[in-house]
Amino acid sequence: MEERDEPLIKLTGLSKDYVKGNSVISALQNISMEVRRGDFVAIMGPSGAGKSTLLYLLGCLDRPTSGFYRLDGKEVSALSDRELSAIRAARIGFIFQTFNLLPRYSVLDNVQIPFLYRDTPPDEAKALAREAVRSVGLEDRANHSPAELSGGELQRAAIARALAVEPALLLADEPTGNLDTRTGEEILALFEKLNDQGKTILMVTHNPDIAGAARRTIHLRDGKLVEEENVKA
Ligand code: ADP
Ligand code: MG
Repeated sequence: MEERDEPLIKLTGLSKDYVKGNSVISALQNISMEVRRGDFVAIMGPSGAGKSTLLYLLGCLDRPTSGFYRLDGKEVSALSDRELSAIRAARIGFIFQTFNLLPRYSVLDNVQIPFLYRDTPPDEAKALAREAVRSVGLEDRANHSPAELSGGELQRAAIARALAVEPALLLADEPTGNLDTRTGEEILALFEKLNDQGKTILMVTHNPDIAGAARRTIHLRDGKLVEEENVKA
């Protein structure tokens, strides 16, 4: 098969409208782009530009109004909800600005949550979760609850949760937005390490310094892709 040569992500004329009462908001308009395996892409643009909408579509949390989305050689834009959630559970790790950890569970238990949606045997799930916790440098905190962690540690735990299922794609929506500058830089260094290890990452950010760590940056404005720049060769 030639699948290896295909980009991990290929968007062709992708659009997303939201209907609100009598008005239609064109959140994304005719977006075409490709992302190759191992890339690290920053998505920038003013508030309301469509960044989160793009990430939602890429993450199979929603379907485009029109256009095509091929993920790893498979057209996903017209799949059923059930098929989309299966792809999401198997292929995609999400990281959000607010860490979305369950407060009454330990770090290790939180990191095992994505396995509830898969049929991984519990022992294997635990081993993969431990490995993910180690890979983000949180092994000393594995049995602590979220209330006992700093902001940077919370985001590391959320990254471990995204990584544990070994996704093909990591999607992050302003992952440093709630962190102080130094902690944000630490989280960014972790993303760079993961990318060096081969992870494909798409990251929304407002901050040009943060975007500078990515291999390239795309800019959205009013739902349109207005510019693409290569930061690193
Ligand atoms: P960004 O993340 O760049 O700030 P969003 O993708 O959140 O932008 O939003 C893009 C546009 O779509 C905005 O005008 C926003 O108000 C609108 N929008 C986003 N989500 C919804 C929704 N669920 N229903 C209606 N409008 C939405
Ligand atoms: Mg947003």
